[in-house]
Amino acid sequence: MSNLSAYILNGCTKIVHTILPHHCALCGAGTLNRLLCTACDADLSHYLAPACPVCALPTPSGQVCGACLQHPPAFDRTLAAFSYHFPIDRLLHAFKYSGNLALTEILAKPLAQLAAHHPKPDLLMPMPLHPGRLKERGFNQSLEIAKPISRWLGIPLTADLCQRMRDTPTQAGLKWKERRRNVRGAFTCDLDLTGKTIAVLDDVMTTGATLNEISRILKSQGASEVCAWVVARTPHQS
Ligand SMILES: [Zn+2]
Ligand SMILES: [Zn+2]
Repeated sequence: MSNLSAYILNGCTKIVHTILPHHCALCGAGTLNRLLCTACDADLSHYLAPACPVCALPTPSGQVCGACLQHPPAFDRTLAAFSYHFPIDRLLHAFKYSGNLALTEILAKPLAQLAAHHPKPDLLMPMPLHPGRLKERGFNQSLEIAKPISRWLGIPLTADLCQRMRDTPTQAGLKWKERRRNVRGAFTCDLDLTGKTIAVLDDVMTTGATLNEISRILKSQGASEVCAWVVARTPHQS
């Protein structure tokens, strides 16, 4: 796009923003040029409860949880910006299913702020979406969230480190062992990742089985550390 047409488009967008009233993406209340009203913004519950450093499930004093001690996952740590409940669940849903990409920054910023307090990985990789799912949705939600984080924190973004061979739809209701079996062979990677530290970004971490499988593959290619970066973590192993 030429500078002039970008200038005109930008100007038109500003005019539309000024004329049309803004509504909070969550409660519909009027806002002043913002996606969320002040009340909803304050309501966004950050994930501050003490949690297992490996899987981010709440533990009384932030110690490693029993499940991680019993079956250590392939990822080394998890950073979760939010607990997966209202209102973040609604925002994520709107972002993912109605393609409301304007919500990207609201979802990405708290995760970037959290990650800035941790060691910087060599690479940031969004959870790959199966090509069929990508075609259906039109975008990879994890890639969209990873883009600004990569920019803000100065971490190279590598969207095609692994390929997703299979879609693994429903994990709910499956036992841990079945979940692990369900995701086996879901990804392939043929790159040499010797000594690399990698952060895998996903929008929501529910059982951790998919993140576990991709971490297993990355480590089998030589990655020395894999960290899960998620916008929201379900508070229970459901
Ligand atoms: Zn609101
Ligand atoms: Zn744990």
